[in-house]
This record gives sequence, C-alpha cells and structure tokens, in this order.
Amino acid sequence: MSDSPELSGLLTAIRDCRACENFLPQGPRPVVQAGQGARVLIISQAPGSKVHASGLPFDDDSGDRLRAWMGVDKSLFYDPDRIALMPCGFCYPGKSKGGDLPPRRECAPLWHRPLLAALPDIRLTLLVGQYAQKLYLPRGFAPNLTEAVRHWREAPGGLVPLPHPAWRSRLWMGRNPWFEAEVLPDLRERIRQALLA
Ligand code: SF4
Repeated sequence: MSDSPELSGLLTAIRDCRACENFLPQGPRPVVQAGQGARVLIISQAPGSKVHASGLPFDDDSGDRLRAWMGVDKSLFYDPDRIALMPCGFCYPGKSKGGDLPPRRECAPLWHRPLLAALPDIRLTLLVGQYAQKLYLPRGFAPNLTEAVRHWREAPGGLVPLPHPAWRSRLWMGRNPWFEAEVLPDLRERIRQALLA
C-alpha cells in the first residue's frame, strides 16, 4: 500500500530531525518504521547503540526476544504496512552508568501525535517498557511495570503493556511465570487478529 503524502512527508521530517542533536553523543539517527496499512504499533523506548549503527529498529537480541514474544518472523516484523515502530525517542540517547540513558524527552511530544494521526488503521498498540507505559497508560493504572503487565487485560482498548525485552527480561520472566503462561499466548492471538482484521 502506498503511503499518504502526509505520512511520507512526516517520515521524511522525522528522519531529518535534529531537534536535540546537542544532547546526542553519537548524533541524530532517527529510527522509525511506519506504513499506511500498519495494524500493530510498537511503542518502545529508544534505539540502543547497535540499532544506531545499523539504522534498523530492534536489530539486536532484544528484537529477537520481542519477535519471539509476538510470534512473528522478521519478514512480518519489518513490513511497515503491517507493523509500525515508534519509540519514545527516535535516536540513540547515549549511555549512563547503569545502561542507556532515557529517551530524549523532546521527541515524543514533537512526533507522536502527528505520526499516530497518520496511521488510521492501528488496531493494537504494544507499550514496550516503562517509558511507553508512562506516556500512554492512564495515570494511576499501576504502581510499576510488573503490575501494569500483570493487569494487561484491564488496559484501555487496544493497549498491551509489556516489559522491555532486554536481557534482564529473562530474570524478570523467571520471577513472573504468568507472563509466559498467560500474557504471551493472548498477545499472539491478539496480534494475529489485528493483522487479519
Ligand atoms: S531524538 Fe527525536 S527530537 Fe531528538 S533529534 Fe532524534 S528525532 Fe529529533
């Protein structure tokens, strides 16, 4: 499906964005994926250093884990007319002592609203990690990420809170076996239905 002029123009503007370049240690390289027919939206955190180098979203171990959770292969995952990828910060924010820095706070207010408006067929939105959940779950929905994910059935229509699929998520999954037993089968079925609908 060809993109609308609005979506094409917006993607060009995002890829040209330099709004917070003074705070980006490796410079801007916005990573985004969206096509006119996308049905599933993944709102994630921000690219890591490997994704910054390749320019391909979730081109790392986290991406492999996320695709396994979703039950999709790479050809489906990277089809912009089926799956859109919109992080809270489009560029790699650099490192802090404990890992990567948070997504740049300028980014979501600048780009999320117009990008969502240009994607009219989204049926299901995965909120991957705490930053996406803070932006899109109702205030007071849950006190922390684990409780937000545990109450996934109560999330507002079409939203699915998920942990970030970084390596630490394996430890988290060990402590929360209900995620693999209950959330993931439901997630895969909802993705299947969203893509078929
Ligand atoms: S992080 Fe977002 S606001 Fe900053 S330069 Fe990249 S696209 Fe622009």
